[in-house]
Amino acid sequence: MRGSGRKNFRDYPDMHIPFFDLTRQLQSWPELNETVRQVMERGQFIGGEPVQQFEKNFAKRLNIPYCIGTANGTDALYLILKALQLPAGSEIITPAWSCMPTAETIVLAGHQPVFCDVDDDYMVLTPETVECKITSRTRAVIAVHLYGQAAPVHQLKQLCEAHHIHLIEDCAQAHLTLEDGKPVGTFGAAAAFSFYPTKNLGALGDAGCVITANAELALRIRMLANHGSPPPEQYDYQSTGINSRLDTIQAALLNVKLTRLDELNRKRRSIAERYNYLLSELNEIRLPRERANTCHTWHIYCIRSGRRDALREHLSRNGVGSHIHYPVALPFTPAFAYLKHSVADFPVAAQLAQEVLSLPVFPELTPEEVEFIAESLRSFLKA
Ligand SMILES: *Cc1c(COP(=O)(O)O)cnc(C)c1O
Repeated sequence: MRGSGRKNFRDYPDMHIPFFDLTRQLQSWPELNETVRQVMERGQFIGGEPVQQFEKNFAKRLNIPYCIGTANGTDALYLILKALQLPAGSEIITPAWSCMPTAETIVLAGHQPVFCDVDDDYMVLTPETVECKITSRTRAVIAVHLYGQAAPVHQLKQLCEAHHIHLIEDCAQAHLTLEDGKPVGTFGAAAAFSFYPTKNLGALGDAGCVITANAELALRIRMLANHGSPPPEQYDYQSTGINSRLDTIQAALLNVKLTRLDELNRKRRSIAERYNYLLSELNEIRLPRERANTCHTWHIYCIRSGRRDALREHLSRNGVGSHIHYPVALPFTPAFAYLKHSVADFPVAAQLAQEVLSLPVFPELTPEEVEFIAESLRSFLKA
């Protein structure tokens, strides 16, 4: 019988389980010290071999011709939007349920964010939610593969093609997430990745990249990231741009960490499966679902509950860290108050902000810790 060997909640010793803990990962990776030392010995801290190597390795892993390293994922999105050379003030459709970079970069690039609600089951855009937002001024859609879940990129791509608009993918939470066996990020005109330390592929600082199959776009992004000068030229300013470089030390570390990305994603996946099993009887919470024909990479394992805040408080009293991604849907933040949206415009996103709770799902979490977290939730919901 399920759970026959389950310990009583009180049988566990005092536990302290952080929401995320990178130090555990680094302990299993002593070669990273040597990696940093080698860069220091060579004395080149901007550009150079490690950056070129990483761009090559990451492009190869995703089976796409071009990868351009950037300083972070936000810059990657901004550079894509700039490089597409859209008319000023274009409307760009973006999910109401995401984090700030997916919306703010639209404004920074001189365009207008048009928020769109997400699907209640999968928490990503759908062709239906997007289509009703398309106008004659729409020039692009940003699909966010949120939490590691693939947004329906096949269908979104068809929709964008039918309307002659660009599809941009935000893959900051979806390193090697698959849709029909193909990695997300390879469906649209270009995709942005973040290697922020907590992401599935994380640097030890800020880092990001753009991937694209379009040679012309790749060149424009390189230029824009290098003050408008086509690299390796330093002073051949074809336009104004920004400074957004993938740091050499971070690139060297990412080259090593990329070798174990599949393994770490598999570990996240088995933790998510374990939660799904252990929590399946708890009717009061809604478990995350994976879209059919996709491979979720579980950057975030997000449950939903009408008693979210009390649940979070209870976990915290039991020494379990959790997080809320996100406390407010973007259209309702002060930053976008000028758009004058109401809850009725994005009912799903508004509801999610009240209900979501992210449980620890980092790869180094032990089976005992996962059991403890599940038991902790159970003790609250059964009480
Ligand atoms: C992390 C993240 C970004 C931005 O990445 P940074 O590297 O922190 O700039 C963009 N979009 C989403 C959905 C993210 O989670």
